[in-house]
Amino acid sequence: MIRNFERFLTCNFRQITAQRRNLNVQNFMIARSYCQLSKMCWNCHATLHENVEIFCNSCNHIQRVPKISFEDYFDLFGIQKDPKVNLKELTKRFRNVQSQIHPDKFSTKSEAEQSLSSEWSSLVNKAYKTLQTPVLRGEYLLSLKGITISEKNTIEDPEFLMEVMEKNETVEEAETKDDLLVLLDELQDEIADVNNKFASAYQSKNYAAAKNYLIKMKYLMSIENITKEKIQRF
Ligand SMILES: [Zn+2]
Repeated sequence: MIRNFERFLTCNFRQITAQRRNLNVQNFMIARSYCQLSKMCWNCHATLHENVEIFCNSCNHIQRVPKISFEDYFDLFGIQKDPKVNLKELTKRFRNVQSQIHPDKFSTKSEAEQSLSSEWSSLVNKAYKTLQTPVLRGEYLLSLKGITISEKNTIEDPEFLMEVMEKNETVEEAETKDDLLVLLDELQDEIADVNNKFASAYQSKNYAAAKNYLIKMKYLMSIENITKEKIQRF
């Protein structure tokens, strides 16, 4: 059982590290692409007022992607920087923004504008995915406070670790799809509960507690993934 648990932890962290590396590379590429901060419309030279202005208010030409800071993920969709994101509203706004900048809409425009539309498009997709996925959103919100989660960050809560180990074991021992579906349901309730606790801790500026909840969420989501994989095998 202990060996399985170790394997489970290793897999868990490998996955987290891979996700983070991917995020860092993408962030670097975005930062590099947007290093030329533009405050003026490249076409009509009108002043751009908004922090994130995709289209010029005067001539309606697509703009250069500004040097984006983390907060701008929320600005991009005009929503409050809040850990309890209204997902329905986020999706509605994402679709609206994406429909305006989709590269298909720029097929008759200049090469430069086509390239800007695809830059905006990938930024908007990435921002949406980050804000929509609880763990990525949590990491992102903590990163706004200069807090990152590394492989070294483990939970020093023996009771929780024991609980995780037992859950993992229950999933391993489950023999029917129905049993697994019940376990999945329980896990998803628990993840939602930890996510709410994360949001409350973050809102009350208790970032150490928020970080702890996020790490717990990752542990639980690892078991959720294992459970889903096992369900698919039936
Ligand atoms: Zn303009």
